[in-house]
Amino acid sequence: MSRYLDSVCKLCRREGEKLFLKGRRCNGPKCSFERRSYPPGEHGQTPPRRSRGDNFRRQLRAKQKVKRTYGVFEKQFRNYYFKAARQTGIAGENLISFLERRLDNVVYRLGFATSRNQARQLVKHNHFTVNGKRVNIPSYIVKVGDIITPRERSRNLATIQEALEYTQHRGAPEWLEIDTDKAEGRVQGAPVVEQIAIDLETQLIIELYSR
Ligand code: SF4
Repeated sequence: MSRYLDSVCKLCRREGEKLFLKGRRCNGPKCSFERRSYPPGEHGQTPPRRSRGDNFRRQLRAKQKVKRTYGVFEKQFRNYYFKAARQTGIAGENLISFLERRLDNVVYRLGFATSRNQARQLVKHNHFTVNGKRVNIPSYIVKVGDIITPRERSRNLATIQEALEYTQHRGAPEWLEIDTDKAEGRVQGAPVVEQIAIDLETQLIIELYSR
């Protein structure tokens, strides 16, 4: 399976905003975007030329931003789009619902990890269960009523404990419930796009894939 091996901070600089891909560092003075908020590369500080492709550029950037925020590669993202478009309802909202319900995102949202990357790593290393069963697939899609907990032997893992402490103030979105004493999360509804604290231009993504 392919992996992104370059600096993830370059992704924030490319998208022109903080995507919070590195956990604690993102809120500290070492954040690369705070120090160099222009795109990476030789021509990073040169203003982009206006062209007839501006609309395409906006659509592409909107798609890249969502993909990079959730840490999903193109093929998988495209699959989510096609599934979302086949479902009833608004395709853009269905797409975000798929991304939000990924197990790595849920682990991050519940505060068991400080970033989605860290959450993905924890899931892959067998630290989490869904309804009591071990699941090590970051793209696993959770359902309403699912209970997500670290495995018994992983509960006291320093990474998880530190993340719970660090993310305490953040709280979980309304569609998730976290019991920090029991270190247990529950899916209590479907994700609502308005509750997601990221500016996602889903309409532009739909336009891009419908070209
Ligand atoms: Fe982005 Fe975080 Fe890196 Fe800052 S520290 S550039 S927010 S990934």
